[in-house]
Amino acid sequence: MMLSVIIPCFNEELVVNETYKRLKAVMQQTEMDYELLFVNDGSCDKTFELLRQMAQEDDKVKVVNFSRNFGHQCAVTAGIHHCQGDLAVIIDADLQDPPEVILDMLDIQRKEQANVVYGVRKSREGENWFKLVTAKCFYRVLNKLSDVQFPVDTGDFRLIDRKIIEEFKKLPEKNKYIRGLVSWMGFKQVPCYYERKERFAGETKYPLKKMLKFATTGLLAFSKKPLKIAIWLGIISVVCSLIYALVILILKLVHPTAFVIGWTSIILITIFFGGVQLLTIGILGEYVGSLFDEAKDRPEYIVAQTINI
Ligand code: UDP
Ligand code: MG
Repeated sequence: MMLSVIIPCFNEELVVNETYKRLKAVMQQTEMDYELLFVNDGSCDKTFELLRQMAQEDDKVKVVNFSRNFGHQCAVTAGIHHCQGDLAVIIDADLQDPPEVILDMLDIQRKEQANVVYGVRKSREGENWFKLVTAKCFYRVLNKLSDVQFPVDTGDFRLIDRKIIEEFKKLPEKNKYIRGLVSWMGFKQVPCYYERKERFAGETKYPLKKMLKFATTGLLAFSKKPLKIAIWLGIISVVCSLIYALVILILKLVHPTAFVIGWTSIILITIFFGGVQLLTIGILGEYVGSLFDEAKDRPEYIVAQTINI
């Protein structure tokens, strides 16, 4: 049995050496054959240099180097495409997901004969309240909107087996929301609870903009309900306007002379309908945009070079 550890890295010069040490220690405890597959997602610091040195000294270290920054999900995808193991673990480079938990995941996998063991965060240290609240809300809203049910408070930290890896490789979509896709695949999936730690060093590589993009990807890929919301908004506003027309008609009949006012109502109605229209066009646009991305059929990532692979 061989275990692959997939580690996406973007500007992680402050942490990769420590990550390597901690992972190495854990791998020695498993007594399995293993590979540490680092995917350098176009870092502009010394991350790649450090990985290259590591790979020179230790042939268990493998490196996939991207031509530029393609994003976390693409880096994980490349890891899954390039890994050799019968089992693979996806883990962040920043040690927020403690490598020691991999041992628990392996135990659970063996005992339960599971195809996926996904990490569920019991607690999250050192995360600001904004990230905690938005993440909690997002996973729950997505579950409400989607036909597939996803485990909540679960990231990409998980163990997957060859079956899942092979099925994953067949997926043609480019804009991947990996944690969703793995849940969607089915097979036997079991949770493994753990405490999410503080980042070892450096800053988050997921600023608000990337987080929003990620959330939109998840939503667009797994729910068509926003389009239905657009229809409902349209229906509600039409009903509102009909009621308003009726009210005006009655007022005109009751007080035919007192009717010169109207500027405010016109402005309000214009703004309201303008807003509804823009919102619905925006929702449509998001779906059309993601169709456009898929239609272009560009690769998800470009590999500049690989080491030890
Ligand atoms: N990451 C990546 N490409 C990116 C952004 C992040 O490969 O464009 C990696 C990053 O190096 C880390 C993991 O994805 O290993 C998770 O990122 P981070 O810890 O910054 O996110 P957070 O834990 O704050 O959500
Ligand atoms: Mg992190």
